[in-house]
Formats: sequence, C-alpha cells, structure tokens
Amino acid sequence: TANPPLFQFDNTYARDLPGFYVAWEGAKVPSPELILFNAALAEELGLEAASFETPEGAEIFAGIRQPDGASPLAQVYAGHQFGGFSPQLGDGRALLIGEVLDRTGRRRDIQLKGSGPTPFSRGGDGKAVVGPVLREYILGEAMHALGIPTTRALAAVATGETIYREGPKPGAVLTRVAASHLRIGTFQYFAARGETDKLRQLADYAIARHDPDLAGAQDRHLKLFRSVIERQAALVANWLLVGFVHGVMNTDNSTISGETIDYGPCAFIDAYDPAAVFSSIDHGGRYAFGRQPVILQWNLARLAEALLPLIEPDDLDKAVELASAELGRFPDLYRAHWLGGMRAKLGLETAEEDDQALFEELLTLMHQQATDYTLCFRRLGDAVTGATDRLRDLFVDPTAIDGWLVRWRQRLEREGRANEDVKSGMDAVNPLYIPRNHKVEETLQAAETGDYAPVKALLEVLSSPFEEQPGRELYAEPAPDSFGPYRTFC
Ligand code: AMP
Ligand code: MG
Ligand code: MG
Repeated sequence: TANPPLFQFDNTYARDLPGFYVAWEGAKVPSPELILFNAALAEELGLEAASFETPEGAEIFAGIRQPDGASPLAQVYAGHQFGGFSPQLGDGRALLIGEVLDRTGRRRDIQLKGSGPTPFSRGGDGKAVVGPVLREYILGEAMHALGIPTTRALAAVATGETIYREGPKPGAVLTRVAASHLRIGTFQYFAARGETDKLRQLADYAIARHDPDLAGAQDRHLKLFRSVIERQAALVANWLLVGFVHGVMNTDNSTISGETIDYGPCAFIDAYDPAAVFSSIDHGGRYAFGRQPVILQWNLARLAEALLPLIEPDDLDKAVELASAELGRFPDLYRAHWLGGMRAKLGLETAEEDDQALFEELLTLMHQQATDYTLCFRRLGDAVTGATDRLRDLFVDPTAIDGWLVRWRQRLEREGRANEDVKSGMDAVNPLYIPRNHKVEETLQAAETGDYAPVKALLEVLSSPFEEQPGRELYAEPAPDSFGPYRTFC
C-alpha cells in the first residue's frame, strides 16, 4: 500500500481565491540539508516528524519537491513601506504551499520563505540566507514560548547555494507556519485598484478564517475591523511588555490574524530606551520601540480606508464616521492591555488610579540609568522577599531605585498577598531568558560556518523562558560592553 501523504492539505486560499495569487514553484537548489526541524510544532500540526527528517523532507522544505496535495502559490499584496505606498508587493521570495488543520482544528498556512524568485520579486533574487532565516526561527519560537501570538518555524534548510548580500552567504529556506498570511496590505491591494467585489471576497474569506462568528452579519466588515483592532492592540502591548522591536512595521507586515509576522531586522531591547532602533534601514527611527503603538494605529487607519467601500457601500461619510469611531478606541484598548500586563509584571492584581504613574516612574528611572529591561523585572520578583542587591546593581546609581521600591512595596501591601505568591506570579510573566542579541549573533555566526549546535542550544533555553535553568546563567546575561551597538539586516 502507498504511504499516507505527508500533509493532509486542504487549500482554501488556492481554491477559493483565484485572482489573489499566482501559482508558482520553487527554484532548483544544489544540495538541500535540513538544519533545524521543529518536532514539537510538527506534532501540533498532526505531522509525522520522522517522515520529514529525511532527504525527501529536506527537498520539500527547500521547495524543490512538491508534497502530495500541495498547491504552491505566491500571494499578491500591496503595502505602505516606511509611509510610502507600493501598489504591488506580493510574495517576492515566498510560496504558500498549502493549509493544514492542526490537532485542535485550527487552520494553519505552511509557507516557504526564500524558495526563489516569483513574478512579485521586483528585482530581488527571491532567496534568503542562513543568518536571517535562523534569526526568524529563533525569535518566532522565543515569542511563542513567551505566550505572544506569532508565526512559527517548522524547518530551516541550507540550500548549498552561495547568495550575495553584504558578501557571500550560505543560502537557506525557512518553513513558516501561520494562522494565515492575510495582511493589511492584502486589503490595500484590491482597495487601491477599486476592485470592490474582490475586496468583499477577501474580507469574507478573512472572516471565515479568523472571525467565523461574524459570518453573514450585515455589519460584518465593520466588526472585522473591530476584531483586527482588538487583536493588534493586544499584540503590540505584548511587544512593549516584553521589550520587542519589530523593526519593519510596514502595512504588509501587519496581520489580520493578530500574529507577529516577518521577523527581519528585529530585536529585543536590553537597556530600556523608547527610542531603541536596531534596523539598519530605519534611519529616521519610524519604527523605534516606543513608537510601535502609534505606528500600529496608523496601519489600522490604512486598513480602515481599504474597508470603507464595504462598511457602508452607499454612504462614504457614514462609513468614515463608523470606522473612525472604531479606530478611536485603539488608544484605550492598547493602554488597558499594557496596564494589565504591567500590573502582572509588578505582582499586582488590583487596579489603582495611580498605577500608570508608578509604572512610568519605573520606566523613567530605567531609561535614565540604562537598566536592563528584562532583568529588572525578573529581579523585582526577588525584591518582593527583600533581596534587592542584584536588582540595585542594574542601576548605574544603585540608590536611584530605592524611593520607587518603597512606593511599590506600599502598593503591594495594600493588596496584602503573601510574598511567595506575588513572586511566583511575577516569575510566571517576567522572562529570565530572551533572545539576547549577542547570543543570537553568536549562534548565527556559528551556523554560517556549518555549526548548528549553538542555535539548537539557544532554542532549547528559549523554549522555557520563565524557568530558571541551572548551568545556563550566561544566556540570561546582557551583552558585554564589547558587543557594542547592535545593527540587524534582513
Ligand atoms: P519584507 O521586508 O520581508 O517584509 O519584504 C517586503 C517585500 O519585499 C515583500 O514583497 C518581499 O517578498 C520582498 N522581498 C524581500 N526580500 C526579497 C528578495 N530577496 N527577493 C525578492 N523579493 C524580496
Ligand atoms: Mg513582509
Ligand atoms: Mg521579510
């Protein structure tokens, strides 16, 4: 009897949305080698891990062999890049190979990134290289372990090809798993062309996939917009709470699903600084750490514009009024998520009027004192039981935090919970391990020479970010001064 198919594909995008993509195939590559495979994610997707850790698996994840039932395609989309509108972007180096239902019945896209040029490559080579592919793998898996909605990595393959970037680099392909690859830019593409029927088809497809409760309702498109606002407000609050800088918040990199997508020149902050920028291409600081909520709201305004013809087809003024009212809720929604998250980070269960001021005082001190963001919160957990030395060491002037600590303790005492409970609650939300920039770079450099042991070790640490892992203390340390300012490339 024949082997069962490797994937149980059910490809709704290919089937239901002709005109929204180009059917396409991966480019030939010389010698695919599977360098990472995410067995835990494979299990979640109902895949048989052993059948992929084979030469055939490497060829599939390199894009040179089509698994049964695949319908590889490049999706079209538009997008505002650094504020300027590009009417056609699309998958210039990616292929959606199909969709599967995971073990819980959730539909997940399987996409190859770096599988060769497509009709949307616009002069690019359609390829990816080992460093950025592994950075996306590491950061996505780290975000997942931190409990933040994100696309994930199923596999990374080295292609055996040499690709020219800032010099010759080893080629690679990432296999990415996503709730969908629908972006704000997907809506912008059809809206900009005045293709209202296709826009409606796309919106109804998005509703079926992400907001099935809205299907059929007369005001479903306004409510879709509301849902996206809610998901994205929660997402960007999570980014700020954990210290993540996306780096390229173009509208084609903002999802409808509310997942983090497209890890390019991204990084976690070390010293707290709202102006932190790591991307080599973000010269103006448009996508700086602290600007992400404002930029997200700007991106959502672009989604609103795209949806207007669906919201109130015969009355543009009314559509604008309705969409503006929804968008106007964003700042409060964002703030509520952020305040709730900050309370948890500081061991608080109730809300008080002055909480925001208390939180902002701490952040101001951290900024002035170049305090490590991640370790500060983690060591505040130890400070609950009186161990403040290692916390105070994080401040240039250790006495700078003392006054604030007194006010925070008073605030904790008003809640009257047991110290141990407060500390364990804080440890469950304040990670000890994040993908430290110098650690990420170290593992990428090793991988470029064919040594994948460091990236595997790092992934292992990051899979349990909240648990103290004896013997792995170095992974929790900030970069040494010799590491210098960090710049990332995509
Ligand atoms: P990104 O910055 O990854 O969000 O990509 C923005 C756009 O540029 C998308 O349309 C990508 O498909 C395209 N793109 C990025 N890198 C390449 C490349 N090496 N070759 C072709 N297209 C690319
Ligand atoms: Mg992108
Ligand atoms: Mg990208």
